[in-house]
Amino acid sequence: MTRKFIVGGNFKLNGSQSSLKTLVEGLNQGDLDSNVEIVVSPPFVYLDQVRKAVRKDVAVAGQNCYTKSSGAYTGEVAAEMLKDIGIEWVILGHSERREIFKETDEEIGLKVAHALKAGLKVMACVGEKLEEREADKTTDVVFRQLAAIAKHVSDWTNVVVAYEPVWAIGTGKVATPDQAQEVHKAIRGWLKEKVSAEVAEATRIMYGGSVNGGNAATLAREEDVDGFLVGGASLKPEFVTICNAKA
Ligand code: PEP
Repeated sequence: MTRKFIVGGNFKLNGSQSSLKTLVEGLNQGDLDSNVEIVVSPPFVYLDQVRKAVRKDVAVAGQNCYTKSSGAYTGEVAAEMLKDIGIEWVILGHSERREIFKETDEEIGLKVAHALKAGLKVMACVGEKLEEREADKTTDVVFRQLAAIAKHVSDWTNVVVAYEPVWAIGTGKVATPDQAQEVHKAIRGWLKEKVSAEVAEATRIMYGGSVNGGNAATLAREEDVDGFLVGGASLKPEFVTICNAKA
């Protein structure tokens, strides 16, 4: 089974109408590998601008969404609203949501359930902190986070797992290809044991954490690395190099 390589660009809390116009123009003019699925994720207020302007072979993702469809939840955005404006994907469980906004495993599981029910595709993020890695708890943490997500998933077709070691996010400290492969293989093993061999084989596992134009090709060679979730470098022209890293 060949899993289609997937690259996501998480713009986080960055951008303006004008900077995103320039960024999208760069992507639209870029020579992108047609065998790679590409998804960009601007802040909510720019989703519509980016979706309308970006080439049609590049999809757009929200960076979060809530567990409810509507109601008295000031400041929240519903999965249904993302769908309503033509957004296909959402990133859930990003470590910044877990750490800064105190989202729990359980809440992330509920968000995944709701987003899938609303018809979105989900990039579900998992990853350990430095102290957890140093305490040899990497797989304990990642499996715990995965279990909270898997509990709410009956069909894995629209789920991609993003393994993002927290110590590698925005730090310039990328995981080595061996470190990434080791955890990706463990995640696939977990899916095989807890879900099914078919799901394990078909589900894409992206790596995220300081991926750039210089290290992407080496990481992309690893057997269980099926793509990247890119933060900082997705705002730069080198994002095109990352998208083409598998070619
Ligand atoms: C991210 O935010 O998902 C991420 C991986 O960030 P960076 O590439 O900047 O480490």
